[in-house]
Amino acid sequence: MATASAWSPDQPIIEVSDVHKSFGAVEVLKGVSMNVRKGDVICIIGPSGSGKSTLLRCINALVPINQGSIKVEGQEVNNPRLDKLALRRKVGMVFQQYNLFPHRTALQNVMMAPTIVLKQNRKEVEERAYRLLKKVRLEGKELQYPGELSGGQQQRVAIARSLAMSPDVMLFDEVTAALDPETVKEVLVTIRQLAEEGMTCLLVTHEMGFAREIADHMYFTDRGIIVEDGPPKEFFANPRDPRTKEFLSQIL
Ligand code: ADP
Ligand code: MG
Repeated sequence: MATASAWSPDQPIIEVSDVHKSFGAVEVLKGVSMNVRKGDVICIIGPSGSGKSTLLRCINALVPINQGSIKVEGQEVNNPRLDKLALRRKVGMVFQQYNLFPHRTALQNVMMAPTIVLKQNRKEVEERAYRLLKKVRLEGKELQYPGELSGGQQQRVAIARSLAMSPDVMLFDEVTAALDPETVKEVLVTIRQLAEEGMTCLLVTHEMGFAREIADHMYFTDRGIIVEDGPPKEFFANPRDPRTKEFLSQIL
């Protein structure tokens, strides 16, 4: 039977409403609202320090919000009784620093959370880890250690590690920003493939060509607010706000 909190896929999978977040006296999110539908690919761009990472961190409850509401699949993230582990299973996150365990192989890194945190069957987890590493095009690299892999390869292990929790949404925070130019593309190919398979994705990125190609919807943030949003075609061809124009003119 339906309850008040029942969520169905025709409702937003993420609902961010008037979110405010301060660190000490500094308000870094000043009333941010955003709806994400299942299967959407959302790209967020904006100057450094505008609150993009903070927004993603609020969505998977890595940092608490001060005001407003964030719902993931209809559940309030800011509820102190929220099962954070359950939330983070639903919402995977990949960071600029891939933070793999250096003394574990690629395969072991991917297997770790499902076996240790979720206590899933080791054999099944291992089979899934092989499949996921193949999916991110790392077949044959399963037994390598992070130090033996390029930055782009390590980042794809990190993506596979997130996917191992079978998330419904993936958050990507500038995941190619620290990579050598020649390995950026292979990570973008992996993300594009996930997006095409219907994974709901929120990406903070400076890869404008990629954003324009992949996004269903663009957001531009500046100093804690969303200044402008729209479908990528319009957003890039015809930015309305002077701050968006200025930013795009510097970066494109
Ligand atoms: P962006 O990802 O757009 O570069 P961030 O969300 O990382 O922006 O940061 C927004 C602002 O919040 C910055 O001024 C940053 O210094 C500050 N900030 C972020 N995280 C913390 C924190 N844990 N403690 C204090 N200040 C923080
Ligand atoms: Mg950031």
